[in-house]
Amino acid sequence: MPMEPRLIATEEAFAPIEYIAEYLKLSERIDTAASRYLAIYYRKQEMVHQLTELDFRIDEMDRFGVDMHLLGITGPGVQAFEAKLGTELAVIANDTLAAAIGRHPTRFAGLAAVAPQDPHAAAREIDRAINTLKLNGIIINSHTHGEYLDDPKFWPIFEAAVANDAPIYLHPTFPADSMIGPYSHYGMMGALWGFGADTSLHAVRMIMGGVFDAFPTLKIVLGHMGEALPFWLGRLDNRYHNILRRGGLEPLGMKQLQRLPSEYFATNFWMTTSGMMTDPPLQFCLDMFGPERVMFAVDYPYEQTAEAVAFMRNAPLDAATMRLVTHANAEALFRISPV
Ligand code: MN
Repeated sequence: MPMEPRLIATEEAFAPIEYIAEYLKLSERIDTAASRYLAIYYRKQEMVHQLTELDFRIDEMDRFGVDMHLLGITGPGVQAFEAKLGTELAVIANDTLAAAIGRHPTRFAGLAAVAPQDPHAAAREIDRAINTLKLNGIIINSHTHGEYLDDPKFWPIFEAAVANDAPIYLHPTFPADSMIGPYSHYGMMGALWGFGADTSLHAVRMIMGGVFDAFPTLKIVLGHMGEALPFWLGRLDNRYHNILRRGGLEPLGMKQLQRLPSEYFATNFWMTTSGMMTDPPLQFCLDMFGPERVMFAVDYPYEQTAEAVAFMRNAPLDAATMRLVTHANAEALFRISPV
């Protein structure tokens, strides 16, 4: 029987215990819809164990045949705090990751946490995380206190990412406090709906704000089959082009882009299967962007490894596409050594 292809899962959550402790302290001081929601999770012993005891998950990986976790700090991560504490916790998170990778170099790779609250400190931490700790990329849990990365004050982060050729995983968090109202009922603020709504908003802000014209080699990874954006690209192009043709860019406060919105997806974006376990969206992403831009992910511990692996192993893909999606794209993008 042929060997099953190597399986690298690319959006796997962890948290240093120091982060959990600081978040619980914060949630006692600042009462928001998000902090109430998260405090429920962070008071569950099992969840804290899964997030903080990094070696614990290896049993589950072995049981279901996941070869490697690309680890990233769970949302909102260090972005929940003021700049100084967020920056300190990013250093702790990245040192924790590097130590875990040192213990299990064939089982773990890692995305560096950074605190955009202090963009210059974040840029320095990117340099340290990539060059000294040899981490594989960066994770940013969407907005930071309601501010999005299209704001040029955050662009030192992009300069550092591009200089280090480090991809940024734009991972979800709860919608900002300023707009969480309509999301706060029926459990809709989290992964059920709010996460994807906020992260797709963030990615579209970056495109329309000209981020990829300023940083043509910036690499962004979106989870959840591209946070629904693949389905929406034709409409972004259509409306952008329509407004452009009618001379409406300036009155609407829009930027003249160098390319159509969808075209940045062909050069600057990758997407993962995290939390999405049905064939048609996978096929749609592959049809839209080709097999080089899609990667497998579970979203441990929030999704079930068994279910995600069964979905991936049974997906109706040819052998070459299966190889790319299960591991080869992740190896190339995140500079993970092939076995
Ligand atoms: Mn996730």
